[in-house]
Amino acid sequence: MQTFKGTKIVNGIAIGKIKVYKAPVYEISEELVSDIAAELERYEAARLKVQEDQNALYDKEMKAGHKDTAGIFEAHALMLDDDDTLNDPCKEIMAEGHTAEYAVRQAFDEAAQQFSEMEDEYFRARSADVIDLKNSMLDVLFGADTSSLQGTEPAILVAEDLAPSETVKLDKSLLLGLVTRQGSSNSHTAILARSMNWPTLIQCHDVADDWDGKFAILDGYNSCIYIEPEQDIIDKLTAKQKEDREKEAKLQELKGQPSVTKDGQKVRLYANIGGPKDIKAVLENDAEGVGLFRSEFVYLNSKEDPSEEAQFQAYKQVLEGLAPRLVVIRTCDIGADKTIDYMHLDKEENPALGFRAVRICLSRPDFFKRQLRALLRASAFGNLGIMFPMIISRWEVQECKKILEECKKELEAEGQKVGKYEIGIMIETPAAALCADELAEEVDFFSLGTNDLTQYTCAIDRQSANLERFSDTHHPALLRLIRETIEAGHRHNTWVGICGELGADPTLSEEFLKWGVDELSVNPKSILPLRERVRNMDLSKYKTEAPKAEAKPEIKAAEKPKGLFGRLFG
Ligand code: PEP
Ligand code: MG
Repeated sequence: MQTFKGTKIVNGIAIGKIKVYKAPVYEISEELVSDIAAELERYEAARLKVQEDQNALYDKEMKAGHKDTAGIFEAHALMLDDDDTLNDPCKEIMAEGHTAEYAVRQAFDEAAQQFSEMEDEYFRARSADVIDLKNSMLDVLFGADTSSLQGTEPAILVAEDLAPSETVKLDKSLLLGLVTRQGSSNSHTAILARSMNWPTLIQCHDVADDWDGKFAILDGYNSCIYIEPEQDIIDKLTAKQKEDREKEAKLQELKGQPSVTKDGQKVRLYANIGGPKDIKAVLENDAEGVGLFRSEFVYLNSKEDPSEEAQFQAYKQVLEGLAPRLVVIRTCDIGADKTIDYMHLDKEENPALGFRAVRICLSRPDFFKRQLRALLRASAFGNLGIMFPMIISRWEVQECKKILEECKKELEAEGQKVGKYEIGIMIETPAAALCADELAEEVDFFSLGTNDLTQYTCAIDRQSANLERFSDTHHPALLRLIRETIEAGHRHNTWVGICGELGADPTLSEEFLKWGVDELSVNPKSILPLRERVRNMDLSKYKTEAPKAEAKPEIKAAEKPKGLFGRLFG
């Protein structure tokens, strides 16, 4: 038996075989070759193989009744016949003596770039298809066996690291747990792992390729993985896994119970989700609403820039599926670690401080309007909150609201139905937290994004594994900003929630409620444990020490329409 340590992200026990996951990385040589005819032949063979694969996928999807997906593969197969755009440019590059791999990379990237710059939305979307085909061509040219990336049996997945786009593509039914060499506790992959409740270990520096296929136990409680464990460890941890399952079953009794402290203070416990597939988890865990729908996962899950219609369908499905609960959908928060090929974003020195989220949306109005129109159309099907991320200034909020209003007018002129909705912003930069009084005048609600607020307040890159020991999610500066944001929001009748990971931190729940937080939005699996905690709290001791009414200046309700906070607590 061997034992290796890491940093745990999610408690719990995973027992099973290991699958070492390796995304293909190709080194493409720029050296010239002498046998040009051989390269041309290799290219042609790869092209036919990819075409055959795409046609097979088309047949499979048609048989399964998935016409839309089948259409993608049909289009891919046809694109590979396109001499002007793909084949001739590749052949020209090979004619100069370059390898087939080099030619594919250059010519397909160039074509994708050209598509992405086109006016027409349909052609712009073809850019992602070309990138997809490029990857398939390279897989074939390099002889990669991509079918074995995750294996076919449920396993503990071991990887160097996982990008959010890779994580979303994983087959969740085959995942028992996750171990990575790199990663940080606030990365989006870690957040996803928490939301799926996979026992997860990051920064396990000893991960090795030869773990593949070995029997192991991932012990989240002790932040370690046992490779080929001894029988007493197997017995002990199997019993612990059983106990966890029993505890989880007991929590089910809290379904339908109010989230209220012993002294009667209510807090709304909402869920963070990434798309329609999470509706089930919201309902199963009895979340009272959705405080953060990370809409960028609709983009990350798509091979091409999703159309207004595709987005509308996704948002409508969630709003309808969860009505009458409030569903807060955050507008696209792409950038930093969440990159998407078809967005063609420039590489930046400091991506976390760069072109991301609302900065992209306000710079690409057509892109932004597509999403806003989809959201407004979906508003007719449920109870919607629209939330803008990465705000630092009042003018940004005003600009977002102006574009939203333009979209609303356009839709009404087209005879489309637009429902009611609330408007909110993420408070995830110190600038926003410090200007919360001014910003509150613009919106119905705030949601504290403590993941980014920690990163920007403490100047700690949330992606960096090396900085873990300096990172402090309980830093007094951060807690002060949270408290002051709640107070500022309430001064202006703006309700305040927390949707960052700190919202589920059991050691801070009582503080947050004491400060009067209106809503905590956490991963669905944390709802019932949090409800249990809330129901065991008694905040009366704080209320006699510092009555809330004295601490807060008068609420000027007449200054702006009341949001949900007003409706519930006003
Ligand atoms: C946050 O920053 O706290 C947040 C909820 O947004 P994300 O983690 O998606 O950046
Ligand atoms: Mg954020």
